[in-house]
Amino acid sequence: MAEGKTQIAVLSGKGGTGKTMLSVNLAAAIENSLYVDCDVEEPNGHLFLKPSTENEKNVFVQHPKVCEQSCNGCRLCVKFCNFNALAYIQEKLMVFEDICHSCGGCALVCPQKAISEEDRTIGKISEGKSENVKVLTGVLNPGEQSGVPIISELVKMCRKEPGTTIIDCPPGSSCVVMDSIKDADYCILVAEPTIFGASNLEMVYELVKLFNKPFGVVLNKCLKDKNPAEEFCKEKGITVVGKIPFDHRLGKLNGDGQIAVRESKLYKKMFSDLYVRVAKEVKHEKVINP
Ligand code: SF4
Ligand code: SF4
Repeated sequence: MAEGKTQIAVLSGKGGTGKTMLSVNLAAAIENSLYVDCDVEEPNGHLFLKPSTENEKNVFVQHPKVCEQSCNGCRLCVKFCNFNALAYIQEKLMVFEDICHSCGGCALVCPQKAISEEDRTIGKISEGKSENVKVLTGVLNPGEQSGVPIISELVKMCRKEPGTTIIDCPPGSSCVVMDSIKDADYCILVAEPTIFGASNLEMVYELVKLFNKPFGVVLNKCLKDKNPAEEFCKEKGITVVGKIPFDHRLGKLNGDGQIAVRESKLYKKMFSDLYVRVAKEVKHEKVINP
């Protein structure tokens, strides 16, 4: 972890566990934080933070463009493409853009130099401000297959930012989540108090273990009843950094698209205290693994 700079990634095994609620409230509880929405297929953080848009940029990938006059139909490019994104049909080379992985290999293997590469916009990143929080939001265009290039660009932008960054990761444990946590100093896993909550927690637990990332769990919507997610934490010796009670008022604020810490001193204290506990864990990890 760079001096004075901390990246905290917030993950959950599935959507609807309170990952974005926790991320936006943590960001709002910290002075001069950066909130980054890496859930590019369904970015919701901006609906709560309502940032002013100060800057927007498109994110591109390169895809093959074929010069029909130069192509002699040798099909070397078709054989080369591991993703079956090329086909030679009725004396014409077809490119299936939605399954192309932009590896650039077909352009390299073509003996006729009939393939060039051109940019294709797959989404955008907007940059804005919401009171004390700088907000970066990645948006994948509908129909696009992979948000990885947008997440990679967001991760690059984060590296330049000082202070504390809260990364709102995509749900699940796919490659987009792996890319989102690449630079994280600490991961918070959010879990619901059900059997499904415990099994979803196990998915992200396996992921952070695989990446050797320091982590802790926040148990959301806690009731007095037995909590299978908490049982899982006990069984595995996982640190529970926070418990958010099942609370109708918090649910209503969230349902109304509001930031709870900006509406009530009680919630401001609750999320600030949670951040203090997380920051202690991060510091501890820094001492253990400098
Ligand atoms: S490798 Fe080049 S020449 Fe051969 S089919 Fe592909 S585009 Fe055409
Ligand atoms: S760029 Fe790569 S993935 Fe896309 S068509 Fe060419 S070889 Fe296939």
